[in-house]
Amino acid sequence: MNALSDRLEMQWQRVCSRMRSEIGEAAFSSWLKPMAVQDLTQGKVRLAAPTRFMRDWVVDHYADRLRVLWAEDNPSIVAVDVVIQRSRPPVAGRRSAGSDAADPPQPPAAAPVAAHPTDRLSVPLDPRFTFERFVVGKPNEFAYAAARRVAQAHEVSFNPLFLYSGVGLGKTHLMHAIAGHIRDHDPDRRVVYLSAEKFMYRFIRALREQRAVDFKENFRSVDVLMIDDVQFISGKDSTQEEFFHTFNALVDQGRQIVISSDKSPSDLEGMEERLKSRLGCGLVADIHPTTYELRLGILQSKSEQLGVTMPGKVLEFLAHKIAANVRELEGALNRVIAHAQLVGHDITLETTQEVLKDVLRANDRRITIEEIQKKVAEHFNVKVADMHSARRARAVARPRQVAMFLSKQLTSRSLPEIGRKFGGRDHTTVMHAVKKVTELCDRDAGFAEDVELLRRMLES
Ligand code: ADP
Ligand code: MG
Repeated sequence: MNALSDRLEMQWQRVCSRMRSEIGEAAFSSWLKPMAVQDLTQGKVRLAAPTRFMRDWVVDHYADRLRVLWAEDNPSIVAVDVVIQRSRPPVAGRRSAGSDAADPPQPPAAAPVAAHPTDRLSVPLDPRFTFERFVVGKPNEFAYAAARRVAQAHEVSFNPLFLYSGVGLGKTHLMHAIAGHIRDHDPDRRVVYLSAEKFMYRFIRALREQRAVDFKENFRSVDVLMIDDVQFISGKDSTQEEFFHTFNALVDQGRQIVISSDKSPSDLEGMEERLKSRLGCGLVADIHPTTYELRLGILQSKSEQLGVTMPGKVLEFLAHKIAANVRELEGALNRVIAHAQLVGHDITLETTQEVLKDVLRANDRRITIEEIQKKVAEHFNVKVADMHSARRARAVARPRQVAMFLSKQLTSRSLPEIGRKFGGRDHTTVMHAVKKVTELCDRDAGFAEDVELLRRMLES
């Protein structure tokens, strides 16, 4: 190494150590440790990332901060660029354990990457999609348990494992986790993970290049075949046919198959009956829509991984408001964090609402204050009119406070607007109600359960 690259490397190490203390060990190891500094030209530093995925992530989340820190260390730096440099050309055949010593020396930029013996049929795995990082709750515990079983079992216990759910609920995450686990613990098993779309694309290309026989042989010699988003081949007849044969050949040889889809096998339209019935004859596990508890758990876990301490109130707010799926939830969290880091603000409920204005509007389930008043009145057995009346007896005042509290939580109305809907009360009355109900929930588990139940009924 020459003096310049030595100096650059030392600067990078210093930048790294500052980043590590800012973002925490977990996020640092996932994202920045695998980066390698490549060169410096005209004030622009180039970092190499092992995959496109990691490049995009680092650019989105850390590039600005890296530039700032680097410029503090070396004022001639004006930009930080991240490029993709794959660790090594795909290796044909398997690498046996302990073959590392015989590998040719790698160029320094590629060295930090712990290369998996990746199968060339497979697409790269997202390093974040592990079992450890999958938050388990009621809606996904069955799918999770099934996935773990497949990852750990040495014998095939159900074939195929068929995972299905709506978008953004963790199918791909679980599939990568299975593949990663097997590669880590059982490197001799040949695991191939790819989307149905890729499968089709490769099949068509093989046909065009008259390599159909190679294609078949290749796919029929894998130990674990994982096809993501199988609904994609609905209606694509020749691909379905090929897939069907591959599927049967593998099952006959006792190889494991894992499939994901956005529908259950029987609901896959445009899929041949015989294929549907084969797909459904193993273990079918669906992931249900998230619950509030699961969303909160996921937010806690993600912010921890990112090394950011989030106020509980903000996490609860996000878990309430962004219920569509986990992908959106993650996106919202990342945006809030990125914004705070960029402008150097603390994360508060107010900044969160501001940053996510558009997302929140889209996720607003448009629960009205009228609905809330009606449900709450029914629940506590008081008249809807009492929501507006001036009566202050506890028997009606308490339900009214609960309704105000829920109006604040579940709608995007402001305090004065809510006050007006409750018989023209002042916004401080609403504020007081919110505070009171929060306190009561903390003190009285039975009351908290009541409020939670109401919230769920309103949200469903
Ligand atoms: P799908 O394949 O079902 O559309 P993904 O697996 O791509 O969904 O999940 C979308 C995002 O949500 C991913 O970033 C994934 O890591 C995350 N995710 C989904 N479920 C969970 C969970 N239970 N715990 C942690 N992260 C999750
Ligand atoms: Mg997916």
